[in-house]
Amino acid sequence: MELEQIYQATLAKWGEEAQYDQAVEECAELIAALKHYRRGKIDRQAVIDELADVSLMLGQLTWMFGQRDVEQAIAAKLRKLDKLLSAP
Ligand SMILES: [Mg+2]
Repeated sequence: MELEQIYQATLAKWGEEAQYDQAVEECAELIAALKHYRRGKIDRQAVIDELADVSLMLGQLTWMFGQRDVEQAIAAKLRKLDKLLSAP
């Protein structure tokens, strides 16, 4: 199954609200994992696993909100960052 089909199937099975809740939960798990990693309580792979969860949720939400709009927002933010980094 292609990613887009998976996003569509996920949305159809569990609904929009569940996707927002899941994204919040996965972000919270990544936050906790980074805190634990910093303190040496978990290994690198545990952080990578949480990054994978968040990446998938970002893909899901990006698909739901519109790939093109998100890409435009990212481009605008990268231009702003580039300007900041180029400033003396
Ligand atoms: Mg997770």
